[in-house]
Amino acid sequence: MARVDKAPRFSAGEAVRIAGQLYGLDAVASPLPSERDQNFHLRDAAGAQFVLKIANQEESDAALDLQNSLLGFLGTCNTGLEFPRVVPASSGSAIASVTGSGGVKYFVRLLTWVDGICMAQAAPHSVQLLRSLGAALARVDNSLEAFSHPAAHRVFHWDLRQAALARPHLDLLPEPRRRLVEPIFDAWATVDWSSLRSGVIYNDANDYNILVDASGSRVVSLLDFGDVVHSATVCDLAISLAYAMLDKPDPIAAAAEVAAAYHQVRPLTAPEAEALYTLAATRLASSVCYAAWQARQAPGNQYLNISNQPVWALLERLAALPPGWPQEVFRRACGFSRGAQTAASLDAARRRSLGPSLSLSYRRPLHIIRGWKQHLYDSTGRAYLDCVNNVAHVGHSHPRVVEAAARQMALLNTNTRYLHEHLTGYIERLASTLPEPLRVAFLVTSGSEANELALRLARAHTGGNQVVVVDVAYHGNTNALVEISPYKFNGPGGRGKPAHVHIAPMPDVYRGPHHGPDAGARYAESVADAAANAARQAPGLAAFFCESALGCGGQIVLPPGYLKEAFAAVRASGGVTIADEVQTGFGRAGSHFWMFETQGAVPDIVTMGKPIGNGHPMGAVVTTAEIAASFANGMEYFNTFGGNPVSCAVGLAVLDVIRDEGLQQNALSTGDYLLAGLREMAARHPIIGDVRGLGLFLGFELVRDRETQEPAAAEASDLVDRMKDLGVLLSTDGPFHNVIKIKPPMVFSRADAGTLLDRLDVALS
Ligand code: PMP
Repeated sequence: MARVDKAPRFSAGEAVRIAGQLYGLDAVASPLPSERDQNFHLRDAAGAQFVLKIANQEESDAALDLQNSLLGFLGTCNTGLEFPRVVPASSGSAIASVTGSGGVKYFVRLLTWVDGICMAQAAPHSVQLLRSLGAALARVDNSLEAFSHPAAHRVFHWDLRQAALARPHLDLLPEPRRRLVEPIFDAWATVDWSSLRSGVIYNDANDYNILVDASGSRVVSLLDFGDVVHSATVCDLAISLAYAMLDKPDPIAAAAEVAAAYHQVRPLTAPEAEALYTLAATRLASSVCYAAWQARQAPGNQYLNISNQPVWALLERLAALPPGWPQEVFRRACGFSRGAQTAASLDAARRRSLGPSLSLSYRRPLHIIRGWKQHLYDSTGRAYLDCVNNVAHVGHSHPRVVEAAARQMALLNTNTRYLHEHLTGYIERLASTLPEPLRVAFLVTSGSEANELALRLARAHTGGNQVVVVDVAYHGNTNALVEISPYKFNGPGGRGKPAHVHIAPMPDVYRGPHHGPDAGARYAESVADAAANAARQAPGLAAFFCESALGCGGQIVLPPGYLKEAFAAVRASGGVTIADEVQTGFGRAGSHFWMFETQGAVPDIVTMGKPIGNGHPMGAVVTTAEIAASFANGMEYFNTFGGNPVSCAVGLAVLDVIRDEGLQQNALSTGDYLLAGLREMAARHPIIGDVRGLGLFLGFELVRDRETQEPAAAEASDLVDRMKDLGVLLSTDGPFHNVIKIKPPMVFSRADAGTLLDRLDVALS
C-alpha cells in the first residue's frame, strides 16, 4: 500500500512553478485534500481551472496510465457524467515527473477541472440524489464492461476482495470497537467471489469523490481514479452504499434507494444482491482498520480523521440492526424477496378479504415486516422507533422468547389435561409477583378471554350480575365485555349502556370535577354510589372492573387513594374487585410490578394479557382460592389453548427477561426521564395541555386553548402522522381522541426517549 509517509510534500509555490515548467501554465495554486498523493487546484490567467496531481513516490507509471486510459475511455461513454480530461505536458507526455527533495522522483499529471459540489457537502441527501448516484454508478459499471487494462489486475488493499489485508489491523482497535468490526470480517470470509461478476471498477464512490449539481439533486461527476481495480463489479455499488449510509437518520433505507436505482439500470444478480451488505460493511471495516494503521504512521495527518467519527457512529448503528435485516432490504430493493408484495397490493387484498370493521393505523398505512427490540422496520427498509406496542414488552422478537417458544414447540404442545412442569411452574412464578391472597390462576389466550372469565368468576362468587365500570373503559371484544365497555357501547355502532351496567366517572384530575389531594377519595365516592345502586338491582352486584391506569380513557393515572377506597366500597356492597392489568402490568409502572400496587390496593381478581407473552397469544386470570372454589360448581372450565406448554415456556421466558434485563427498573428511570422531558416540552408548546403517566405508561393531551381545554383532536392525529414520517410511532386515544399515548417496549432507552423528545419538538414546532 502506498504509504502516507511517502506522500509528496510540495508547497503551493512549487506547484505553481511545476505548472509553469511542465505545462506552460501561468496559474495560481491552492492545495486540495488527498490521502496519499498531493493535489493542487490551478487557475490560469484566462480563468481555466485544472487539477495538478503529484503522485505518491511509490505509485507506478503503469497505475497512472491505467487512470489516464480509464478517464479517456469514460469520456467517450454515454454515462451522463462529465469526467476530467488528461492534459498532456508541453513535452507531449500524459505523465510527466518532478524531482523533490532528496532527489526523489514523483509522477505528475494535469487534469481539467470539473465543476460541482462535493456530495459530502450536499447533505442532507435527498432521495433524488441517492437515486441519481445509484443510476450514475450503474451506467459507469455498464460502460466499464468494455474496458480493460493490465494494471487493473493488481493486489490492492482497497479491493474488497483483498480485505484480508486490512484484517490484521483489527489489533490496533481498542475494545469495544474491535467487537463491532470483527464480525464484519467473519461475514466477508463467507462471500463466494466466484458467484459475482467481475470487471474493472471505479472502486471509490465515497462522498468526497462524488460531485453533484448546484441543486444537490444530481450526480455530475466522479473524481480520483487512484483506486481503480479489477474486482467483483458489485463492489462499486457496495462502496457507494458504505458512504451513502454515513450520517443518515435511516442508513439502510438510504442505501436501499441507491441500490434500487442501480439495479434498475444495471440489474444485480441474486448472489450480488446477497453479498451487497457484507461488502458495504467490509468497506467501513477496512476503512477504520486502515485509518488506525495510518494514524500510527502519520499521527498529524488530518485527512485520515475526516470520515472516522461518522464511520464509527454508523458501525454502532448497524450492529444494533436486526440480524439479516439489511440483506433482506437489499433483496427487496432488487426484487429478489420471494412473496414480497407492494403496500398498495396488500392494501387492496386486505380490502377484499378482511372484514371492514377494522381500520389501519396512519393515513398512509405502514407495511411493517420486521421488529427488533424497540424498532419496527417497513418493507422499504425504514426504521421506526416504536413508542406504542406495549405487547412487545421485552422488545420485538426477543431471542430468548423466540427460542423458548421454538424449543417447546419442537417438543410438545397440548392442552392442559396432563401434568407438565411448565404449567405449574409458570403459574407459581406468575403468582409470586402478586400479593397474597392472589394465588390461583386460569390461563387463557387473550385479554378478552381473561376479562370474560373474570366476569364469570365474579358472578359465580357473588350470585349477582350487575357490574360497575369506569367511563370510557375497554375490557374486551366479546359480547359480555362490549356490554361492560363504555368505550364500545357508547362509541360508534354501540347500543348504549345495558341495564346491568353502572358507570362511574373517569377519575380524571385534568378534565374532571375533582383535582386536589382528595380527588382519589372523591372519585371513589362515585364508585361507591354506583356500587350501592347496583347492589339494589336484582340479583345484586357482581363486580367492579377497573383498569389500573386508564388506557382508552387517555392514559389516565388513578389519583392516590382511589382504588383502595373504591375497592372497600364495592366489597361493602357485596361485589368483587377486578383489576384489569391487560395494558399496565408486568413492571410497566416502574415503581411496582403491577400498576394496582401503586394504589396500595389489592383486588380480588387480576386479569392479564398483551405483554404476558410478548406477542404470543396469552392471557391470565389470577384470583383467590376462595373465588376459584366458588366457580367450581361442576361445570368444567376447559380452554383448548390456554396454558399449553409452549405458552407457559413463553410466559416464563418473558418473566426471566424482565428480571434479567432489569426492565422494571428501566421503566422507572427512563419513564421519569421522559416524563420530565415532556413536561419541559409542555412549557414551550402551549398546545400540550397536560402531561401524565407512570413508568413507561405515559400520555400527553393536546388542547386548542389551555383555559377552555378545547380538545385538539385533528392536531393530535396530524402529530401522530408527522411523527411517523419522522420515524416515530405513536397513537391517539381518550374520549376526545386528543391524547397521545406512549407505551413502548420496555427496552426503550434514555437515548430513545431523547429521540422521541427531539422529534416531537420538531413536529410540534
Ligand atoms: N383490557 C384492556 C384494558 C385492554 O386494553 C384490552 C385490549 N386493548 C383488553 C382488555 C382486551 O384484550 P385482547 O385484545 O387481548 O382481547
